[in-house]
Amino acid sequence: MGDELNELYQEVILDHSKSPRNFKELPNANRVAEGHNPLCGDNVKIFIRLENDVIQDIAFQGSGCAISKASASMMTAALKGKTKAEAEKIFGEFQKMVTGVEVDEKALGKLAAFAGVKKFASRVKCAILPWHAVSAGLEGKDQPVSTE
Ligand code: ZN
Repeated sequence: MGDELNELYQEVILDHSKSPRNFKELPNANRVAEGHNPLCGDNVKIFIRLENDVIQDIAFQGSGCAISKASASMMTAALKGKTKAEAEKIFGEFQKMVTGVEVDEKALGKLAAFAGVKKFASRVKCAILPWHAVSAGLEGKDQPVSTE
């Protein structure tokens, strides 16, 4: 996998997996959701402070591979300050991108770093996991989500 792997683990992904942003518990969170990816062993817990349908604050905890951690980190950075509807829209575009559907990658900003994931079927679930958890949290579901 040598060169391809280097392409996948782009600098920005490496940076976020090594020093994840918003990697903490959020004591005043009013939405909490968990996600599991049994295929890889990724676990993520998302904390959201939602006020008037706006994500005022968002953070995560958990353990997993570099892709899942970097995805959660970059996701929290991208979603802070966004409305619920905006967050769902970004999730939709992100999901399309990593599953190989053509999207406007520029519109996804830094999240476009994950475009290479589509070449690695087993990694797609790692990248999408934190987004599924956020989506469940925003919908108010309190059951853990699984990629299976
Ligand atoms: Zn993983």
